[in-house]
Amino acid sequence: MSRAEVLTDQILERIKGQDVRVKREEILKRMKLLIEEFKVPESEAVRTITSYLVREYGVSREELMERESPLVRISEITKPNQWVSLKAKVVQLWDSNSPNVSQVGLIGDETGIIKFVIWTRAEMPEVQEGRSYLFKNVVTDSFQGRMQVNVNRTSKIVEIDEDIELPPREIQVVGAIISFQQNSGLIKRCGECGRVLIKGVCQVHGKVEGYDDLRIKAVLDDGESVYEIILNEGNIAGLTGIDLQKALEIAKENLDRNAVLNELRNRLLGRYFRVKGLRGGRYLLVEEIEHHKPSVSEFDHILEALA
Ligand SMILES: [Zn+2]
Repeated sequence: MSRAEVLTDQILERIKGQDVRVKREEILKRMKLLIEEFKVPESEAVRTITSYLVREYGVSREELMERESPLVRISEITKPNQWVSLKAKVVQLWDSNSPNVSQVGLIGDETGIIKFVIWTRAEMPEVQEGRSYLFKNVVTDSFQGRMQVNVNRTSKIVEIDEDIELPPREIQVVGAIISFQQNSGLIKRCGECGRVLIKGVCQVHGKVEGYDDLRIKAVLDDGESVYEIILNEGNIAGLTGIDLQKALEIAKENLDRNAVLNELRNRLLGRYFRVKGLRGGRYLLVEEIEHHKPSVSEFDHILEALA
């Protein structure tokens, strides 16, 4: 069976029991057109055809949603294009570089952590870090070999009054910071939503005044894996003694906000750190970070090697 046929049968399976007189041929024709001719992603094709059936054949969207998106745990998400619901806590929000993305970040439950994307056109209320939600009827997806969930127009996000535990397994990594990513150092955030301003512009609220903050997005390499990490003002101050106040002074003295970034690069890039945190894919949620100094025995090794 072709993918178009598989997906067509999945749609038919979902509307089974509803009194709908649509022919398999008709759905298949549309499916082929979308995924073979127009190369539309499968999940998008399924959504488009589902909307068509709702519109033209009176298929009940509510019934579809109940049936097709079982409540799952994050560890059970292993395949793309599944409609699922999950209860999860927002553990980290990232900056989005695309106007099509309203929010992006990581959510977690007891079984794992996964990336999520809320599309702008989904028109969802914003989620907040540290709060727990029922993410209803979201679509699993695979991006660059990693699973994620997408929130689209047919999804629902409902805040829940449960404090969801994150996976108990912490990892500890010793590695070097090998690069800084964009928008690190002394940054400005939107006063309305906290998003990082790019050239004074919030992607949602446009040109705004904003407030100062200090953060670093970096890549840590432990020799086996690379991890993306985010350091907040507290982490940075702990490692370098440079807090927001000090950073603003450095910027002022040099008449250049980039002077802060240069200073942080000098102090952190290429250095070794011990990081404790939670792992989600290639991301490491930093709980603690400290300088790693080679122990005496490690020095002995080095001396022996030199002798
Ligand atoms: Zn904003």
